[in-house]
Parts: sequence; C-alpha cells; structure tokens
Amino acid sequence: MYDLIKNIMNIERESGLNNNYAKLIHNSLNLPKYYPPPILEKIIEQIPKKKKNQYELYYIETPTGHKIELLKVKKGNKEFIMHNKMYEKLNTLSDYFKDILGQDIFSYITSLYRSPEEQEQLYNRWLNKDPDIVHKPSEAWHSKHNYGAAVDLAISRIPKEKFPAVVEQMKRIGFKWGGDFGDPVHFELPELNKWIEKIKPKRSKNWHSTK
Ligand SMILES: [Zn+2]
Repeated sequence: MYDLIKNIMNIERESGLNNNYAKLIHNSLNLPKYYPPPILEKIIEQIPKKKKNQYELYYIETPTGHKIELLKVKKGNKEFIMHNKMYEKLNTLSDYFKDILGQDIFSYITSLYRSPEEQEQLYNRWLNKDPDIVHKPSEAWHSKHNYGAAVDLAISRIPKEKFPAVVEQMKRIGFKWGGDFGDPVHFELPELNKWIEKIKPKRSKNWHSTK
C-alpha cells in the first residue's frame, strides 16, 4: 500500500514537473486529438491470441451493482490490473517501445488500475493541500484509472526527442493523451467511455454509503 501511495505521489509530481514540457510538445506537434478508428482496427487484428495462462481475472463491483471484469497480468516481477482492451493496446505497443526505446512499455508504467479507496485517498490528500498532489484528482469512481481504462507512464525516462513520436503512436491506436488536458503522464482509452458512463455512480457519495 505504501508503495502504491508513493507511486501515485511520484506520478503527480512528475505530471507537475512536465506540464510546460507537455504544452510545448502539444503546441509544436499539432496532432489531432483522435485518429479515426480504421487504423486502430487494423492494428488489433495483428495482436496474437492471448494465452489463457498469461493472466488471471480480477473482479470488482461498483456501488451501482455492476460487476467489472479486469485482467491481472504478470510482467517480470510486477503485476498489473487493467481492462482487457487496455491489455490489447499495451501489447500492440510492446514492439514499438522495444524498437524505439529499447524497453517494453510495461517497464514504463507507473499506474494502471487504481482502486476507489486509493482514488479517495488521493482526493483527500489534495483536499488537505498535500504539496505533492499537483493536480486536482478525480473523486472515487470518477477516474478512468478506477476502471483499468487509463495508464500513467514514467515519461521522464523517455528521451524528449522521442516523446512526440511515442505520443503520436499511442494516439494512432486509440489512446487519448492527458497532455492535451494538462496531465502528460496520463493516457486513456476513449472507446471505453460509454461503458464507464453506464456503470459509474452518479456521485461519489453513493460509494461512501455502501461501504
Ligand atoms: Zn492517470
């Protein structure tokens, strides 16, 4: 748990430090916010079929009574929890990251699934004016991370001259980049928005009452 909090702190710190940098990249790139879906579908077809023993299933229940099925994947000595769409996308990026950066994308991940409890802790720390929390976090159940649909990367480890190409590649396969709204470490999957809207509680207060 402590490690998790520490991770979240690092992410927040990182997103603060890289804000101007992100703006610079964003302004100079002139990338579209989204790429059209056909490119995305083509890439997904190339993903090798998942082997059963590559992951475990992980279930969570929302305050609205919806059961969410996520994947728990082991990579090296780390475990990651995420939506299966996210897993497909990250696998798609695996070779690209190895080619351009020499390391798998999984080694750059600082946050993927975040439980509503962790989200609330983060939010409360911001309310209590914790200087390490640079941006206002979403409330519990209101972050894409709470559905395994967002990923944060250690972008400070990516050489600045290579970062724009990485962002472009991630956008091409369907990621929305947080740098377009002030959070450059964050990448999320807009194709899961409809699903999240359907199952997420209207107000985080609902979550407290069922606890
Ligand atoms: Zn994030």
